[in-house]
Amino acid sequence: MTDTHTTTVAGVAVDTRHWIGGERVASAETFTDHSPIDGAALGEISRGTAMEAAAAVAAAKAAFPGWAATPRAERARILHAVADGVEKRIEELAIVETTDNGALLRSHRRGVMPRVAHNFRFFADWLLELEHEDFDTRGHTNHVSWDPAGPCVLITPWNAPLMLATWKVAPALAAGNTVILKPAEWSPLTASLLADIAAEAGLPAGVLNVVQGLGSEIGDALTSHPDVRRISFTGSVPTAKRISASAAANLTPLSLELGGKSPLLVFADADLDLAVDLAVEQYDNAGQVCLAGTRLLVEETVAEEFTKRFVEKASRLVQGDPRDEATDIGPNIHPRQLEKIDGFVQRALEAGARAVTGGHRRDGQYYAPTLLTDVAQDSEIVQEEVFGPVLTLQTFGTEEEAVRLANDTRFGLAATLATGDRDRADRVTAQLVAGTVWVNCFFVRDLQAPFGGSRHSGVGREGGTWSFDFYCDLKNTVTAP
Ligand code: NAD
Repeated sequence: MTDTHTTTVAGVAVDTRHWIGGERVASAETFTDHSPIDGAALGEISRGTAMEAAAAVAAAKAAFPGWAATPRAERARILHAVADGVEKRIEELAIVETTDNGALLRSHRRGVMPRVAHNFRFFADWLLELEHEDFDTRGHTNHVSWDPAGPCVLITPWNAPLMLATWKVAPALAAGNTVILKPAEWSPLTASLLADIAAEAGLPAGVLNVVQGLGSEIGDALTSHPDVRRISFTGSVPTAKRISASAAANLTPLSLELGGKSPLLVFADADLDLAVDLAVEQYDNAGQVCLAGTRLLVEETVAEEFTKRFVEKASRLVQGDPRDEATDIGPNIHPRQLEKIDGFVQRALEAGARAVTGGHRRDGQYYAPTLLTDVAQDSEIVQEEVFGPVLTLQTFGTEEEAVRLANDTRFGLAATLATGDRDRADRVTAQLVAGTVWVNCFFVRDLQAPFGGSRHSGVGREGGTWSFDFYCDLKNTVTAP
């Protein structure tokens, strides 16, 4: 149900306008947001332009001195109040996110939304622990402080909308910055709910602004704005290149969290059931996970047995409505994404790949979980990010070959190892190009740890102190004795 400025999604009212300077602001034009579950129109969302971008940056700039000067303890208190608000609305946030982006309701309810609240609590608490460093140089004192940088533009994708947004929003605000958040146009709704929650928690007007619209329109206007002091972007490599070019004009510092084509290495000495569990987990969120280990690299001697067990386990996955508790894999986000996924798979099959399982669409916006073998290392399906439930399997004979294959793409986001040999794990890990390596586990993320990718998977790291380093101007004050 939609009126001019509100849409009701699964019983939850969501404002479809921007949130700028503590007020709801509508654009002249709108775009339609659809649910990937059934294609239903969810609402007409304000389609921001350079005008709203300028208004949001101006609001963030005006609010900056007041928020930067707010004592740390008070900033932390308000961020905890935001976390309280998220916790009170977990059910609403979960159902709206699932309806908007198609990821599993059970994960949103029990995993993602509680972690959204945790993101605010973690960075609020970290702020209070952040010590100014002091050291001595020939009797002179060096005093290093973290000064907030100013208005930060945060641009996020659709695969984990509120989770990825709050990894940025929470540290940026904790550090004393003001924020302009632009969520992806395929999943704009929970960002609007976050604006409501932040306002109710007492965040002053203009400290968090949320703008809606297309990347090429309002996104571009934001990243090229001279008053913006930081840009943090999570999304695709082509967009990152465009944003880097815009930011270059103003030398705006950037943090880029981009795509991946991560390897999952299975050695013969691994617990094979664990390795299979890890491999099947790569289908989570219908394969729309930047960190997914989509290239299974399996030692020759166990490849046949691994494949047999993998197919057995994958065939038990339940694909369907993400609101059902029993569902393991939901729909893909958009008809265009489905086209893209199927294009990759069909071209791979034409080039000689074999679909051990899947390899085709299903009714609606669903893609069958797919495993392809007989793929060449230099082929598109091995080198490019598909961002769907599509894995490839290659075999290796030696550890050296495994490392060579693992590192042989332009990405470097993550890697997963299944091995029973700790020495091997250490040896291989030391040679892998990856921002995160998981040994006999997957997707365990502690906010204290640095997170990011190498090569085309990103620039910079966020998490813990690294986030504060990025969102602050570090200042060293040297005082004579
Ligand atoms: P995308 O690059 O198409 O869009 C991401 C965001 O950028 C959206 O909000 C979009 O509106 C905006 N945008 C598009 N063009 C812009 C422009 N010219 N200027 C400013 N903003 C612009 O990416 P996507 O399809 O939404 O997301 C999928 C990609 O994100 C995948 O490559 C995935 O691997 C990556 N990703 C990375 C991580 C990570 O942490 N490394 C996490 C999740 C997703």
